Amino acid sequence: MATRRAFLGTALALALDAWCPAAATAAGTRVALERLQPGLYVARASNAEAMRANVGAVVPSLVHVTSAGVLVVDPGPHAAWGRALLGAIRALTAQPVRWVVNTHAHPENVLANAAFAGLRPRPRFLASPATAALMRQRCEDCLARLGAQLGSAAMRGTAIVLPEPALRDGAWLHTGGTAWQVQVHAPAHSTSDTVLYAPQLRLLCAGGLGYRERVPEMQEASLQGWRQALRQLIALPADIVVASATGTPAQTLVPTLAYLDALAHGIGAALAAGRDASQAAEAVAAAPFRHWRHFATRHPLNLQRAWRQLEDAWLQGEPPA
Ligand SMILES: [Zn+2]
Repeated sequence: MATRRAFLGTALALALDAWCPAAATAAGTRVALERLQPGLYVARASNAEAMRANVGAVVPSLVHVTSAGVLVVDPGPHAAWGRALLGAIRALTAQPVRWVVNTHAHPENVLANAAFAGLRPRPRFLASPATAALMRQRCEDCLARLGAQLGSAAMRGTAIVLPEPALRDGAWLHTGGTAWQVQVHAPAHSTSDTVLYAPQLRLLCAGGLGYRERVPEMQEASLQGWRQALRQLIALPADIVVASATGTPAQTLVPTLAYLDALAHGIGAALAAGRDASQAAEAVAAAPFRHWRHFATRHPLNLQRAWRQLEDAWLQGEPPA
């Protein structure tokens, strides 16, 4: 196991070092797949928020090649990326893509469904009932919003493809000889976050729940729900996590929880001491996270959101976090 861990660490370090945003351009999107284990790959992606400079390529899509077909989790932000991902899969295997899973209804994760919808046989597009319902409600708006962020050229040919509401908490998804336990955490990073866990691979596919050296996005998050989800995930035997970035649990889940705990503990103590929201920044011990990407822009927004949520709970008689 130690040897395998070392190999994974090296492979991941190489994947991160070798990433160059210039490799993905609106004119010719390319996707590189890094091997994690035999048959298991992640797409190289920028560990950043979606913006023109990275063409929205910020989700390390998981690709699992099996003798029964290929599983893709979170195919990415738009049709061009999805087509490039499909090209990279085709370079690996002739197996058909049979399952496309959407972990949560954020546009950079799901809008590349479009590139897989024309395949024959058509893959099954799968999500939790809540994620499927949210995508039905708001993918039009999300498409427009991501187009405004990335430029309309990046979104060309991106149609909305909705998933089946088939992934239920506690169910199992079988891809050839691999069994994936489905967990649905709702609410957490978003209104509903689906996790796929393969115990025999010691692999967690955690969607938006894990970040690495980057301040988490909490625009729709439940602070307490996300902390609870992370505590459950950290307790699982796993060597590798594929989420907003790829790494070990200690590189992804543990620091993400530490950040959310710092928000909860700092703000909880400030509320108990009778402070107000203008003192939120001083209340939270953020020094360990100051070097994380997007700290200057994302952390103040997170402070506001966390304060509102904990203050509401406090007013309803819940003890400070
Ligand atoms: Zn997300």
